[in-house]
Amino acid sequence: MKIGFDLDGVICDIDNVVLKISHIMSPEVEEAVAKYYYSNRTPLLNPNLFLADGDEWYVITARNPGWMGDMTRKWLDKFYPSYSGLYFVGGDGWNAEPYNGDFDAWNHDTAVRKVELMKELELDLYIDDSPCNVSKYRQMIDIPIIQYGTRI
Ligand SMILES: [Mg+2]
Repeated sequence: MKIGFDLDGVICDIDNVVLKISHIMSPEVEEAVAKYYYSNRTPLLNPNLFLADGDEWYVITARNPGWMGDMTRKWLDKFYPSYSGLYFVGGDGWNAEPYNGDFDAWNHDTAVRKVELMKELELDLYIDDSPCNVSKYRQMIDIPIIQYGTRI
């Protein structure tokens, strides 16, 4: 079985208050806060607890592969190194396209790319913390999508 996991709010904790406050700071401060924030997340859900022999697990995150790639890989390698794949669907670079300040459009685009990867990887199951995204995925792909936790 191939199981996919969202990262923020599923495998690691999420603090939307810190993120929202960082968004109203200058770009330089926001970037510094974000680098510290994403490098110092607390493990939340252990993907290994879902696996039987031969199962594989993947991470599909809306983080961008540019400035977040290395720190995300390091974090995952430190806490849960058994993943079969780590995929980024966010833009490449700080505040780079496709994010242009329109969160709903950005969120929809990343949801579409996540579902494309679920199909490409032939996942059997996907777990996400966002009720909005869970609803979208369930309309776009015919595999079980489990909502884990809650998100404001
Ligand atoms: Mg999430």
